[in-house]
Amino acid sequence: MKIVIVGAGIVGSSAAYHLARKGAEVVVVDKLHEGQATAAGAGIVCPWITRVEDQDWYTLANAGACYYPSLISQLKIDGESDLGYGLVGAIAVSNDETELNEIEKKVRKRQAETPEVGEVNRLSAKEARTLFPPLREDLGAIHVTGAARVDGKLLRDALQKGAAKHGATFYSGEARLEVANGKAIGVYVNGELISADSVVITAGAWALEILEPLGIEIHIEPQRGQIAHLKLPEEDTSKWPVILPQGSHYLVCFDDSRVVVGATRETGSRFDYRVTAAGIKEIMEEALSVAPGLSDSTLHEVRIGFRPNGPDILPLLGKIPSIQGLIIATGLGASGLTMGPYVGTLAAGLALNEEIEVNIAPYDPLRNSIGVK
Ligand code: FAD
Repeated sequence: MKIVIVGAGIVGSSAAYHLARKGAEVVVVDKLHEGQATAAGAGIVCPWITRVEDQDWYTLANAGACYYPSLISQLKIDGESDLGYGLVGAIAVSNDETELNEIEKKVRKRQAETPEVGEVNRLSAKEARTLFPPLREDLGAIHVTGAARVDGKLLRDALQKGAAKHGATFYSGEARLEVANGKAIGVYVNGELISADSVVITAGAWALEILEPLGIEIHIEPQRGQIAHLKLPEEDTSKWPVILPQGSHYLVCFDDSRVVVGATRETGSRFDYRVTAAGIKEIMEEALSVAPGLSDSTLHEVRIGFRPNGPDILPLLGKIPSIQGLIIATGLGASGLTMGPYVGTLAAGLALNEEIEVNIAPYDPLRNSIGVK
């Protein structure tokens, strides 16, 4: 069974790894566009403290978070060590006791169903600042120990190296899908046809560009996210928890004295790969209002990523019925580093015509779309 994967962000890299481990012949094609979401993503893996109420979203996000530890173990067995994953916990912060009560109630309910949530503890403002010293002095917190953070670039690279060890091959370039007699027969890259039994489209926000010429109109669009990397020289930030204030902004720490803060959510941005004055203002105001202790940090880098946004909050995952051997896995929006590795396993299963362990009907890639013309 030969399978071509178009797009090697977190979803495509995971699909490639799982397919190669199962013995499939795998070819991955990636253009590495500016603004690949995986390379810019903050990397929070915590679906348990969220305002999202959609059960179909939660099913994949929860499964995605719970899947991480076994994936990390598997990659280590395959000899990969630089994975960027840390079970550092998360704290939801607020100065409103009622708000904290509601968060605690919701997380405790999820904890009862999912042991991976870990311990749930109420922290005083002083206790919260012990875990994250730059935090504002009046913010109480709910601490969830099972939350994690991941460096999307490092995990993506580890999955690709793992896939290569199991025989996957990689092409650099832009793929064009080739269909004949109602069947996906491969892709053209740099003028060469790479033939396949199945093609998996994991092209993130760019997926429509590949499918539209064939009359397949899925609903997917880029949403720009600008995100800043701050450095706190001399501080060991490696164990600091993820900070989740009551809005869409957050703070996430990594090993090298780095605190990542963001991010903008710019719907309608198109593929406009720019750092903007308003973007930086928004990110900095939000971050410093929650963690004034970061005021003197160094602005090290600003990244831009295009989140693949579907017609709603759910991913686009499934086969295109009118074209045999064509699988779509994109639209993971703001949750792709949480769900991506797991969704990659589901896409791999679809490519191998295996039975899938979750009901994927809600994620139909053609929903809210015209379908195939
Ligand atoms: P991408 O990573 O965008 O990869 C798609 C790849 O396909 C690209 O490399 C592209 O070049 C390639 N491609 C496209 N078309 C072609 C073609 N024709 N031929 C060849 N290659 C092609 N998620 C979380 O869970 N937690 C977070 O904290 C979080 N924070 C985020 C912060 C920001 C600022 C952003 C932007 C995103 C964040 N996300 C987060 C979301 C997450 O990063 C994305 O949902 C996820 O990375 C999407 O992965 P993907 O593989 O679908 O797409």
